[in-house]
Amino acid sequence: MPAAPVFRVAVLSGDGIGPEVMNVCLSALRSLSTQFRGFDLQFSELEAGAELYARTRVALPDETFAEAARADTILFGAMGLPHVRTDDGREIAPQLDLRERLELFAGVRPLRAVPGLPLPLADPRARDLDVVLIREQTEGLFAEREAGTLEADAEARDSLVVTRPACERVFDFTFALANRRKDEGRPGRVTCVDKSNVLQSFAFFRDVFDERAAAHPHLEADHCYVDAMAMNLVTRPWSYDLLVTENLLGDILSDLGAALIGGMGMAPSADVGTEHALFQPCHGTAPDIIGSGRANPTAMLLSAAMMLDWLDESHGVPDCGTAANRLRDAVDAAFAGGVLPFEFGGSDGTEEISVAVLRALESASASD
Ligand code: ATP
Repeated sequence: MPAAPVFRVAVLSGDGIGPEVMNVCLSALRSLSTQFRGFDLQFSELEAGAELYARTRVALPDETFAEAARADTILFGAMGLPHVRTDDGREIAPQLDLRERLELFAGVRPLRAVPGLPLPLADPRARDLDVVLIREQTEGLFAEREAGTLEADAEARDSLVVTRPACERVFDFTFALANRRKDEGRPGRVTCVDKSNVLQSFAFFRDVFDERAAAHPHLEADHCYVDAMAMNLVTRPWSYDLLVTENLLGDILSDLGAALIGGMGMAPSADVGTEHALFQPCHGTAPDIIGSGRANPTAMLLSAAMMLDWLDESHGVPDCGTAANRLRDAVDAAFAGGVLPFEFGGSDGTEEISVAVLRALESASASD
């Protein structure tokens, strides 16, 4: 029998609650890799972030970048601290450098509610929410983030850049995902979110979307202005399947989406490129709760499940897909068993959630 593949996982825990949620995630992944014979995971923990910058003036060392680029996949906690800034006043954000340098062009933000949790929308359809938001994340309003200008303390400018190749690859990625979801019984409908009624860049974004939609005639495609989408996501998010949008609009809508499924501690994400992929919770370093034991590790755990799915899809290792499902089921079982994080008004923190999920993983393994 051929040896099972060993995937090298670069682990960048980062700052604030990043290491707190990453510890739980690594315990879960170690448990899964002993449960499944079809793959193994080899972790290498790497330094990067605001604390490192405060000590060394380097946020993303060359060795860390090289090791992350060499790895099969990257797990990322959170980086940045409000009091650690570059000389021009910006926060430290190695995650943006990684996205750009590894060309992680698609930010994938699934909006799936864990069953049984109290959610902000009372409508029962909110409990079955299953929408995916895709954010283009190599250009848009972040394209020239280090080249913005401020003249005479009187006028500041940033540019919004939309290019045909970047649009085509993110739209094609989204239609491919829509196709897979359609095979699984979802509508396979893609909605382009923009502000094409006002800005030339967004009119072009929409034109390229329509061209790519025409190449996928078996899938539905439509449009929505971002202001209307903000309202629709609050009033009827279940009417959507996949959303695709520009960088800054996606940044904003993904926090709105996180709120729909219970908050930042519940929202996973993947940053996917052609060669590399990075998996991280949608939340930041949560400076207000560092060290308090209140950090909810669920978003990090669900991001790790997305990583296992991606390893399955990109390397054809079905055990990784089965392990991903087992991890998601363990999270669902922990919450079904009564775990209630602080964000939901409960009193369960990192430790309690970790114990409940790891126990559910062990009992799933025992009943194999
Ligand atoms: P960034 O700009 O990097 O996104 P931020 O400071 O705007 O960071 P977060 O760090 O995500 O945002 O924190 C926003 C709020 O959500 C804070 O009140 C924080 O405590 C809370 N929060 C974020 N992540 C979690 C988590 N995993 N568990 C519990 N609360 C969290």
